[in-house]
Amino acid sequence: MKKLTILGSTGSIGVSTLDVVAAQPDLFKVIALTAGNNLELLKSQIEAYQPELVSVLTANNARTLSRMLTGKKPEIMHGVEGMIAAATATGTNMVVAAIVGAAGLIPTYAAIKAGKDVALANKETLVTAGHLVMNLVKEKGVKLYPVDSEHCAVFQSMCGHRDQDIARVILTASGGPFLKWGKEQLAQATVADALNHPNWSMGRKITVDSATMMNKGLEVIEARWLFDIPVERIAVNIHPQSIIHSMVEYIDGSVMAQLGVPDMKGPIAYALTYPARVPSGVKPLDLTTLSGLTFFNPDTDRFPALKLAYRAAGEGESMPAVMNAANEIAVDAFLNGRIGFMAIPESIEKVMDLHQAHQLKSIEEVLEADRWGRAKAKEVLGVQ
Ligand code: NAD
Ligand code: MG
Repeated sequence: MKKLTILGSTGSIGVSTLDVVAAQPDLFKVIALTAGNNLELLKSQIEAYQPELVSVLTANNARTLSRMLTGKKPEIMHGVEGMIAAATATGTNMVVAAIVGAAGLIPTYAAIKAGKDVALANKETLVTAGHLVMNLVKEKGVKLYPVDSEHCAVFQSMCGHRDQDIARVILTASGGPFLKWGKEQLAQATVADALNHPNWSMGRKITVDSATMMNKGLEVIEARWLFDIPVERIAVNIHPQSIIHSMVEYIDGSVMAQLGVPDMKGPIAYALTYPARVPSGVKPLDLTTLSGLTFFNPDTDRFPALKLAYRAAGEGESMPAVMNAANEIAVDAFLNGRIGFMAIPESIEKVMDLHQAHQLKSIEEVLEADRWGRAKAKEVLGVQ
């Protein structure tokens, strides 16, 4: 039986993870849950799954949650300390890392350090600290399973093949809601426009990242670390139907792909039960109902964020962490109506131009680069 901690249980991935758990109650037990501010949803999750430990963002949230619960209560913690306690709980053997943003790094790193296997949705963990995280994974001998649908597809397309026979990894991208928008239109895009993703229902931050295509950029960096492959050999194809979730091309010209209806329960279930497959609640794919599958190259003139991510990956060291921090600040400012859509990539580029990449030797140094990127982005954007 898998004993789970779910970091970010009230988010889009967290909720889908609990759907997978609910469909296979004999396979899983929930040991710990963490959430930010959605106490109502956390309360119903506690009642349904009876975890031993939960953690919320603030002490105030912890007090409110305690008052909301009647009957048997789990231990209630808060803040970074609470997230670490959940990630390293003795009873847990697998941690689902589903917090959004660089905030997921500390508990995910703590989970690996404590010898837990990790199902990784929080791509920012690898974007900011890929080398440190992958070294620790090796040192501790833990398993790191990708939950991101593209990386899960690549992982599946690599099973049974030799690393030295891989020519390229091809990540697919839906292109997001602005696939056909011109530059002038993009400059006027509203928050509602950006949140209107055609194929996937996700949290707000990643939905905006999909609209700018920074999400694909973060995924290129994530793939670089997960599969130990240079970014020059990671390509991006726009595939608006989101049926092929990614591909691996081999030196003999063969291409392996993984297909399915776009639903995160598929990759989540695979990460939780690998190498077994279980019914995940994903509808079967009927290719005969589709009018066609199309593919083309991304336009980095209209979506410069993708180019910035390749640049950050190329410069390496602290640059991806700084880029990620600047992106988080810009996306937040956009969602709060403080800046326009194109100010997101423009401000990230300015912050990167101001940064001199340097080696990051510890998580503390990663966090320092993250803080520097956030402060610089606020300065560039003139927001608090
Ligand atoms: P979300 O916004 O829906 O949920 C985020 C969760 O993290 C919530 O439970 C929230 O309470 C918690 N959280 C947010 N900020 C926090 C903080 N500072 N400290 C502690 N907890 C905090 O996000 P999501 O869409 O579920 O995405 C989660 C992660 O998974 C992201 O890294 C995203 O890139 C990745 N991902 C998501 C999807 C998807 O379909 N949603 C697909 C692939 C990868
Ligand atoms: Mg993805």
